[in-house]
Amino acid sequence: MTRGADAETFDVAIVGSGIVGLGAALAAADRGLRVVVIDRSAEVQGATVRNFGHLCVTPQAGFARELGERSREIWLRLRTEADVWVRESGTFVVARHEDEMQALREFAEASAAGPAGVGADAGAGAAPADVDVRLLDADTFRSMAPVAPADVVGGAWLPRDLQTNPRQAAPAIASWLRSRGVEFRMRTAVTAVRSGVVETTRGAIAAGSIVVAVNHDIDQLYPEIAEREGIRRCGLDMMRVRGHLRAPLYAPLLTGWSMLRYGAFAVLPSIAAVRERLTTTEPGLAALDLNLMSTQLPDGSLIVGDTHYRGDAVPPFQSEHAFQELLRATGELFGTSELRVIERWQGVYASAPADFLVDEPDPGVHLVAATTGIGMTTGLALGEYAVIAALAGRAAASSGPIATQSRSQFRSGSAGRAGTPHSGADTPALS
Ligand SMILES: Cc1cc2nc3c(=O)[nH]c(=O)nc-3n(C[C@H](O)[C@H](O)[C@H](O)COP(=O)(O)OP(=O)(O)OC[C@H]3O[C@@H](n4cnc5c(N)ncnc54)[C@H](O)[C@@H]3O)c2cc1C
Repeated sequence: MTRGADAETFDVAIVGSGIVGLGAALAAADRGLRVVVIDRSAEVQGATVRNFGHLCVTPQAGFARELGERSREIWLRLRTEADVWVRESGTFVVARHEDEMQALREFAEASAAGPAGVGADAGAGAAPADVDVRLLDADTFRSMAPVAPADVVGGAWLPRDLQTNPRQAAPAIASWLRSRGVEFRMRTAVTAVRSGVVETTRGAIAAGSIVVAVNHDIDQLYPEIAEREGIRRCGLDMMRVRGHLRAPLYAPLLTGWSMLRYGAFAVLPSIAAVRERLTTTEPGLAALDLNLMSTQLPDGSLIVGDTHYRGDAVPPFQSEHAFQELLRATGELFGTSELRVIERWQGVYASAPADFLVDEPDPGVHLVAATTGIGMTTGLALGEYAVIAALAGRAAASSGPIATQSRSQFRSGSAGRAGTPHSGADTPALS
């Protein structure tokens, strides 16, 4: 593709300025292409700013893991080049019951390097480069994460995972891309896409390749594909709270509820027991389809969540009961009754049986979406994948799960284990 003389002609047009669209824009800009990003919002306000900022690579399985690893590289690059707040925090997973600890042992065994040994060298200050899952005994976990001490049976630290600030990341990436010549057309709704042309509320834009990264709004632009792939909308209740924790939360915190959700946990023998116990002892929380987790923003406030409800439409009326249950469960997690809610919001993302949608409905038109709640972890690489597919002049997928597609093009030389967490102030101390 060559640069067109017409100002409205681009090499690559990207619909959607969330993390997937930004990943596509970065990949296209890196290849020296003329890029336009089109979004109907005035600012990035979709799922990309509403999430926990948890870049949760280690618990992913299959191609989600591969996308996560590649995204991890891009996030670390963006920290350096685009001034995006990213910390090599790892992830804390607390075990508050023996079945959760057993699941973590199985998780460690299943990971490439196997278990690091419960409490074996947890005071060393950094994990070996080849350890994905470091098991921790109760005392060590209590010293690392400010959860209610009496409830801790043990836990794990997943050193490869990262944390970002979702409110800062997308604007920073967009601003940096602008400085590199990427054009953004905001307040511009896309009404139709066909090969070579994006129809918008501000006129048509011509482009050699088009990437459509509109998350759940795929059901508006491509309703037949959304219906075929079983894509629905998932609504989530979220809060930001302040409260006195007994120590800072240096890494995203997952719980037993989280273990029920991620691919690499789902196959563990003990997960059925964890699910059975949690749903029996906490049916109210189970009915909310809870993923009890939390991250701490740089200003000290905590993002807490989340509940899940799915449908063709997400009701805008958020249940206060759900928020109160979330607050109770979070208070129990941290051992405090003094959490003060400072914000509530609703997140929405695409949800489907497969983890990703990748399709090419017309030649040169590439649809991509994370269809479960792992788009911050995988989205930068998913966008890149779409650009690679577009430039290769072939579909990234005919339909259905991306896992069936070629992945080798996707690996980069520096992929793989990127080393130990640095020892800066944003790294949890292992003492
Ligand atoms: C509450 C919540 C918590 C989450 N937590 C995590 C987490 O911790 N870790 C993780 O990995 N993932 C998490 N996720 C998932 C993750 O946030 C999403 O998968 C990801 O942000 C999706 O990015 P996106 O670019 O596809 O979509 P979005 O960020 O939603 O962006 C899509 C963009 O498309 C635009 N658009 C739509 N239709 C049109 C149109 N017709 N014309 C022009 N523009 C259009 C929208 O305006 C929007 O800006 C969470 C999601 C939610 C909601």
